[in-house]
Amino acid sequence: MQIKLYNTLTHKKEDFIPIKDDNISIYSCGPTVYSYAHIGNFRSYIFMDNLRRMFKYNGYKLNHVMNITDVGHLTSDADTGEDKMEKAARKEGKDPYEIAEFYTKAFMDDMEALNIDKPGIITKATDNIPEMIQMVKEILENGYAYETSKGIYFDVSKLDKYPVLSNNDLSGEEHGARIDVDPEKKNPYDFAIWIKAPENHLMKWDSPWGKSYPGWHIECSAMGRKYLGENFDIHTGGVDHIPIHHENEIAQCKGAFGHNPAKMWMHCEFLLVDGGKMSKSLGNIYTIKELQEKGTEPLAYKLFCYSSHYRNKLNFTFEGVKSAQTSLNRLREGYLKNLEADGDISDDKIAQYENRFHEAINDDLNMPLAMGVVWEVIRNEVKSKQFATLLEKFDEVLGLDLKNSKKYFDKEIEIPKEIKELIKQRSKAKEEKNWEQADKIRDEIKEKGYNILDTKNGVKVEKI
Ligand code: AMP
Ligand code: ZN
Repeated sequence: MQIKLYNTLTHKKEDFIPIKDDNISIYSCGPTVYSYAHIGNFRSYIFMDNLRRMFKYNGYKLNHVMNITDVGHLTSDADTGEDKMEKAARKEGKDPYEIAEFYTKAFMDDMEALNIDKPGIITKATDNIPEMIQMVKEILENGYAYETSKGIYFDVSKLDKYPVLSNNDLSGEEHGARIDVDPEKKNPYDFAIWIKAPENHLMKWDSPWGKSYPGWHIECSAMGRKYLGENFDIHTGGVDHIPIHHENEIAQCKGAFGHNPAKMWMHCEFLLVDGGKMSKSLGNIYTIKELQEKGTEPLAYKLFCYSSHYRNKLNFTFEGVKSAQTSLNRLREGYLKNLEADGDISDDKIAQYENRFHEAINDDLNMPLAMGVVWEVIRNEVKSKQFATLLEKFDEVLGLDLKNSKKYFDKEIEIPKEIKELIKQRSKAKEEKNWEQADKIRDEIKEKGYNILDTKNGVKVEKI
């Protein structure tokens, strides 16, 4: 069945024609490991997971690379500000390599909890420095870059067209933000591909241009080329990468070897919080762990992401993920009921459901439509083992670990911190014979989705 994917480069949905018949090459921009990844970041990796799984469902093998940015990503996506890794190292009083190791592990743990199918190659920027230096040399030799006192800058005026992805004229908002007053730059949109390190900079390497470090964009260009070659099928990232990071990756590849490396560029839209941007200053950034503490499983967050197409914005609310948790529980119940049932469903009907699901995922990963088919199967009046088998097949793409549904019901429920605290307060109120207060707290706990029962072995908590 034909796969159609939206290509940011051509601004349309295209038939996907692989470069190699049975092996799809993908490069995904990975996390910058200076802090915990937030649920917005994970929306992009859930999209990446769906893409991988959709290809596998269609019988393809994957050659997939994701990088870990552990140096060179400055506080602005362009080339101003401090290196995020160094800033975090200073703040936490640690070595930047320790910071990278710690947050890479945290990222991988969350990937695991979200049941994200990981790329075969996951590689750190700092493990690929020689390839980056080589690429900078080539760009210089080909006349697409020049040296200043701060580093090596890409000369965008040497390109036939810039930008190519964002369709922005350079006075556009995102690019306007990049205009600075560096008098050594030939054009305002020229960007650093290699940065000379100030004396106190911790992460730096010997290079033909002195002690220095890579710019964020050259990292992905060089790693993509090293692991996938100069022509690969798909490059992925979040929409914020379109105007700067990916634009500059394409520019560098043209400078080094003459062309854009990826046939398709795919981008996941943003997760918003209460309709607005997630930002540290607004205090509305949440991690997977924080959701867990509030009683939402990582897999419920994953299911929540399927309520919107990856190219549409998705608005995060706590009510939204709470209802996704209820849906996930219903999905598991439905699967288990079918697993034990012996109703007879015609092969034709099964094939119809399967076909519609397959069409939905092949149509630019239409997960909301695919979920519609899943719910029709679950709601079917006749229950059958055949449906359970079908749901297991669908789960190859959904990645919701349906096969292990029973385990999630058997598992002792994890009680969120705030509920534990309320239970403590209620016990104290009871000790003080303040029955009114104790009842009030019980109601509050109920409102938050938990029942408490007083048994002779103590307080028992149930999820409503
Ligand atoms: P970073 O670690 O900042 O490089 O970001 C990791 C990935 O998360 C990138 O692909 C970003 O485009 C993506 N991303 C960042 N914020 C959001 C958001 N609010 N919603 C969806 N994706 C995001
Ligand atoms: Zn990248």
